[in-house]
Amino acid sequence: MAQVLQHVIAGERRSPRATRIDPVFNPATGEVLSEVALDDVEAVEEAVRAAEAAFPAWAATPILERARVMFRYRELLAAHRQQLAESVTREHGKILSDAFNEVGRGIEVVELAAGAPSLLKGEVLPEVAHGVDVSMVRVPLGVVAGIAPFNFPAMIPLWMIPPAVVSGNTFVLKPSERTPMTSLKLLELLKEAGLPDGVVNLVHGGAPVVDRLLSHPTVRAVSFVGSQPVAEYVYRTASHHGKRVQALGGAKNFHIVMPDAQLDQAVDALMASAYGSAGERCLAGSVVIAVGEVGDALVAQLREKASRLKVGNGFDSDTEMGPLIRLQHRQRVEGYIERGIAEGAQLALDGRRHPMPRDGFFLGPTLFDRVEAEMTIAREEIFGPVLSVIRRPSLEEAVETANRSRFGNTATIYTTSGRAARYFRDHIQAGMLGVNIGVPAPVAWFPFAGWKDSFYGDLHATGLDAFWFYTERRVITARW
Ligand code: NAD
Repeated sequence: MAQVLQHVIAGERRSPRATRIDPVFNPATGEVLSEVALDDVEAVEEAVRAAEAAFPAWAATPILERARVMFRYRELLAAHRQQLAESVTREHGKILSDAFNEVGRGIEVVELAAGAPSLLKGEVLPEVAHGVDVSMVRVPLGVVAGIAPFNFPAMIPLWMIPPAVVSGNTFVLKPSERTPMTSLKLLELLKEAGLPDGVVNLVHGGAPVVDRLLSHPTVRAVSFVGSQPVAEYVYRTASHHGKRVQALGGAKNFHIVMPDAQLDQAVDALMASAYGSAGERCLAGSVVIAVGEVGDALVAQLREKASRLKVGNGFDSDTEMGPLIRLQHRQRVEGYIERGIAEGAQLALDGRRHPMPRDGFFLGPTLFDRVEAEMTIAREEIFGPVLSVIRRPSLEEAVETANRSRFGNTATIYTTSGRAARYFRDHIQAGMLGVNIGVPAPVAWFPFAGWKDSFYGDLHATGLDAFWFYTERRVITARW
């Protein structure tokens, strides 16, 4: 009998009182790992009250002590990295090495947060008038909330919690109801690192729980990562309720391959980008624009490599691609494959026929050639292992085609030409760019977010932006 996952409120585990409960699956086997409450709205009240009660003492804790919690947390995460990675693979399905890297990217944010005493220093301008000094200090906001997607169960909560709490805020996390288990371990380790009870709380749930957080009068700011429609909804709703919001949404990432590219390297990077994590990454390459004569060779190499991709359980060391998150999601992605065929794209490789396990929610790598920018598969986020190739005669037309997308999360160019790379850098409309890099995810010391409909808000996740997002400025003008 699967256990219903507990919330964590004021340092205590507490069983949910919910009318709607969902199973949490191991997507590689279909086995039910646990159950998760969807609508325990009362738990939001309790978690926010706990965070509110913990705030004064935590905000008054010296910044050096708050930073030392991060140093200890960093060591604990590193010591439990394998265990956390296994938890990610179990509930998400991605291959273990990928999960291990995910945890590493999360640890980076803790390392960033440990530098808070340097990053949160204020400013002073003495003698702006005779005997008058002006200073600016950064102060925490209070209770802030984070709402996470399913696809990075460890990393995305770690984008939010470390910078928020080291800045003196207290936190309510709502993990994805599809991958809610790893976050419980993240909170256990925070407690072990010495974080006082109530500073970080966790409430499981779906939309009803999110809605309560978005309208709760005590919550000052909301960090959201998820699909575009929900990002837009969260941004509008939380802003309407007077909150500061950063909402990172969906993506359609274009990769441009120039005729002068190192083709082998470009193909390897594209394989990892499009099919890594079964395409369930917001940075997944989804459309390749082949410029000039490179198209035929590119498609041939992609098809050859993709057809040999080993699809299976992420715990098996020779597996290269795991399952999709749910059966319904696989059906949705299969719907896109049918749509691509119906709209006239050439199916170069059909992932539905790929060798793969029968249990679980698997779908093999799929490749479309001769795709046009107007087709559904080139416009909408598929979030599965489906790569579309568009052909264009010039770099300028390739960039113009990519810029027609409503999304602007990442874009990559593969080239050996500095001129082409500079043209791309200056003209492509996306927030995170790669030059010969398949997954251009910025390291934690840089801001992370896209442009256009991939992002709603102003200050991005991670980097200095995270500290600015989670603090308010106070300016003091004093005469002595
Ligand atoms: P999702 O939008 O379905 O869910 C995200 C969160 O929103 C979950 O916690 C969920 O419980 C909640 N939610 C879902 N529907 C809601 C509703 N109607 N009202 C209120 N809350 C709701 O996203 P997902 O499927 O979990 O994650 C995949 C998506 O996230 C993809 O679109 C991907 O591109 C995006 N993503 C973006 C980034 C980025 O950096 N831009 C990073 C990771 C994932």
